[in-house]
Amino acid sequence: MKKKKNKSIRDLLIEYFKAHTKKDMSHGPVVDWVEARYKRLYNKKPRDTWRSIRNLHEIGFLIKVKKGIYRYDPEATKERELEDFTPEQKEAILKKDDYKCVICGRSKKEGIELHIDHIKPKYLGGKSIIENGQTLCAQHNFIKKTLKQTETGKKMFIRLYELAKSEDNKELKNFCTQILETYERHNINSHIVWKR
Ligand SMILES: [Zn+2]
Repeated sequence: MKKKKNKSIRDLLIEYFKAHTKKDMSHGPVVDWVEARYKRLYNKKPRDTWRSIRNLHEIGFLIKVKKGIYRYDPEATKERELEDFTPEQKEAILKKDDYKCVICGRSKKEGIELHIDHIKPKYLGGKSIIENGQTLCAQHNFIKKTLKQTETGKKMFIRLYELAKSEDNKELKNFCTQILETYERHNINSHIVWKR
């Protein structure tokens, strides 16, 4: 049988854990098996087998039972995706974003609190995987979380403003103007255009 080329250390690890579904696997035999397979395929010793295992844990593929023992459980993996990020995933996301808010670039150095945000929100089916995570400062995290509400509000006040204008209701027009100017001042929902 001809061996398929281009198998990464990660592919081999996934293959191994899938062959031992729902079993607690100690790292020693896993590393030995994977490294032996790799050596047969490429005639060299792989690097970073350990890091690849840790990474599979970070992305939520493997469950860490305890130090050096991992388990693959497809059902738990599915549930895992609905849960929050693990501390390891959070650290990996912060690192990926260089420990800075991806919108304003501020960091802890400036005394800013950083949050890990689901790019696609969990309630819309967004998964707790590193690819769906981003670093936001407390302010931008808040703006993002309330975006839907503020969007609805801005559209509502634009409609109310138009109505007040058509009825020549100066007080209502003034009220809407002040609110919409506040949106502009804080640069919130600037994609929704308000024409005076
Ligand atoms: Zn920010």
